[in-house]
Amino acid sequence: MSAAVQTQTQTRAAAVEIRGVTKSYGALKVLDGVDLTIQPGQVAVLLGPSGGGKSTLLRTVNHLEKPDAGHVSVNGRLIGVRQHGSRLKELSERAILAQRAEIGFVFQSFNLFPHLTALENVAAAPVATGRATKAEAREHAVELLTRVGLADKADVYPRQLSGGQQQRVAIARALAQSPGLILFDEPTSALDPELVGEVLGAIKDLADSGTTLIVVTHEVGFAREIADLVVFLDGGKVLEQGSPQEVLDNPRYRRTREFLSKVL
Ligand code: ADP
Ligand code: MG
Repeated sequence: MSAAVQTQTQTRAAAVEIRGVTKSYGALKVLDGVDLTIQPGQVAVLLGPSGGGKSTLLRTVNHLEKPDAGHVSVNGRLIGVRQHGSRLKELSERAILAQRAEIGFVFQSFNLFPHLTALENVAAAPVATGRATKAEAREHAVELLTRVGLADKADVYPRQLSGGQQQRVAIARALAQSPGLILFDEPTSALDPELVGEVLGAIKDLADSGTTLIVVTHEVGFAREIADLVVFLDGGKVLEQGSPQEVLDNPRYRRTREFLSKVL
């Protein structure tokens, strides 16, 4: 790497920086001092046993959950708080919503609006947040539905779509706000096996386009294919992280090996 490139790499803000994030529900400590850095354009895959805190961690990144301690930055900007002298002050609800609009989130259960067509689902947020006129948003929505292979389903309601198609609409909807970062929480877990591939294909296209992604998934083969960084989260802590080769092929810890032997 040349000196110039190295300097640029060092000064560019991380896409996501998670520092000391801790979160409890009552007496249950769900996240316990999580540190994680994801560089722009990287794809991070989060793996780990159920209840290990994967969803909660993802939700702290767009402030659907507020950490008890620690903080998250996206592209160098603190999430949910701002620096006020030496203290952190909570952002207004409006400012939090504005931050959240810049981060795509795709849920396991699709969460489409049932009373809106595929196209209306994709076009809704940019209009609601004032980022686009209705005509602009609809035009962009057609492009995005085409990108996920659903140009012919624009006027169809979610109940008329397969799970895989619904999830691809959800991906198009996440893209509608042109987010630099998209979070996926087990995007294929609710799908019949024969529909998993089409959704993973749409995610792979995003990975190839250079969007920063954090993907919670148990699809280890997929992780090996797309991940720059594999993170194993267990008991609210990052037990290990590294390249797919490091974490999937040569895990350092017995807990990781046990988990992988169950999902492979
Ligand atoms: P994962 O996604 O890795 O399965 P989660 O982050 O969903 O793990 O959950 C971690 C733990 O926190 C689980 O024991 C879960 O039951 C608990 N939990 C998650 N959300 C809540 C909540 N809103 N209230 C209470 N407990 C919760
Ligand atoms: Mg989860």
